[in-house]
Amino acid sequence: MVESIFLKIARKEIPVHIIYEDENCLSFLDVKPHVKGHTLVIPKKEGVTIFDFEEETLKNLMIAVRNTMAKLQEVLSPDGFNVGWNHNTAGGQVVPHLHVHIMPRWQGDGGGSMHSIVSNPGELSVDEVAELFKI
Ligand code: 5GP
Repeated sequence: MVESIFLKIARKEIPVHIIYEDENCLSFLDVKPHVKGHTLVIPKKEGVTIFDFEEETLKNLMIAVRNTMAKLQEVLSPDGFNVGWNHNTAGGQVVPHLHVHIMPRWQGDGGGSMHSIVSNPGELSVDEVAELFKI
């Protein structure tokens, strides 16, 4: 399997602008930012989606996300954030290594919320979808 570019970044084989780092995770500026301070947080371990990692790594990832947001808050003083990740190609994932996007937000910056990602709720009512989860 070809190694993903983010694994090479985690190993410091490709230079990036590091925002935060600890034993388990690395945060760096996105090379094509959608907003000032657009940052990616990755686990240093290899894995494509959240389902490839054990709980400890995911806990550490969330701590790294918090610490990275704190750093961005301190330096850039945004009014808010959008935080999330694209899961698989259908969800918009391009790089096959789990990464959390942190996008600092400012009042009036023209961006949307999570609700602007997709608007295609389908034919089933909310109650009918809920039925699918009943055993
Ligand atoms: P995805 O669509 O997979 O969630 O987003 C991947 C992100 O990684 C994109 O926003 C893209 O700009 C960023 N990216 C891809 N390659 C590199 C790179 O080599 N360095 C940095 N800093 N960001 C990258």
